[in-house]
Amino acid sequence: MTTTPEKYIGRFAPSPTGKLHFGSLVTALASYLRARSKGGKWFLRIEDVDTTRIEKGAIHSILTTLEDYGFQWDDEIIFQSKRSDIYQDYLGILKTKNLIFNCICTRREISKNKKNTLSGEYVYGGKCRELHNPSRLKHAKRIKTFEERITFHDLLRGKLRQNIAEDVGDFIVWRSENFASYQLAVVIDDHLQGITEVVRGSDLYLQTPRQIYLQKCLNFMTPIYAHIPVVLNEFGQKLSKQTKANPILKENARDNLISALNYLGFDYGTQNKIIEISRNNNEILENAARYFNLKNTKF
Ligand code: GLU
Repeated sequence: MTTTPEKYIGRFAPSPTGKLHFGSLVTALASYLRARSKGGKWFLRIEDVDTTRIEKGAIHSILTTLEDYGFQWDDEIIFQSKRSDIYQDYLGILKTKNLIFNCICTRREISKNKKNTLSGEYVYGGKCRELHNPSRLKHAKRIKTFEERITFHDLLRGKLRQNIAEDVGDFIVWRSENFASYQLAVVIDDHLQGITEVVRGSDLYLQTPRQIYLQKCLNFMTPIYAHIPVVLNEFGQKLSKQTKANPILKENARDNLISALNYLGFDYGTQNKIIEISRNNNEILENAARYFNLKNTKF
């Protein structure tokens, strides 16, 4: 009996907090080339669940920039801001498992907890866990964590093991502004979209065990993960809106694509060949996919 191999489904999931910069281009390109090199699908998801951080015009700018740079996504784009009911349903499942509690701790109180030395984040000490705070108080919802070791094998960075209760603590799944947290929304969407492999920036590497913990609580499959190094500026900071990274422009698409290919480990000979045989940006991407090897990404 023959079994059909599982179809590869990847994704790019930008938050519309600003325009795309070179760092986002590298992430988009890595996930795109990986998906196409596997003959798979590539979905686009706009992670606008945190409506307080959306920048006006960013969604339109991200979509047109991706198009200008030759990206072609499969199926409909998903917008997290329209999926609150779905996230609420899954929150309900976690509630029935008695895993959710209301937390009224202020930032100040949280800052009294110890910090995780690797991530620099505060480890929630469990103050509100047994307090049964009434819902009428402004509160966030946290998920209870237990002494559980989560281990995963990142395709590029190897094995990571985290004791979720000790290293992270009960974490937020529903924000006090009344929307799902990034962790909850991303896990639900990766599941519902059937994502088989997540290729994204290494700034999310240490957050992955939280997502695997949620997958376990919700009986979801865990995708494969590959965290590519984030692009740094001359001061060693991650390119981002906060570090004032320049938006990438349509006029420089070809040059930026070449630099991004270089970052992903393409040698000059292969790059030149790709450029020579490609008549437009989309062809650059499709031809690059034929030579792409994720493991060549520069560290
Ligand atoms: N929305 C996140 C960002 O823009 C990426 C989340 C993910 O890939 O899981 O940084």
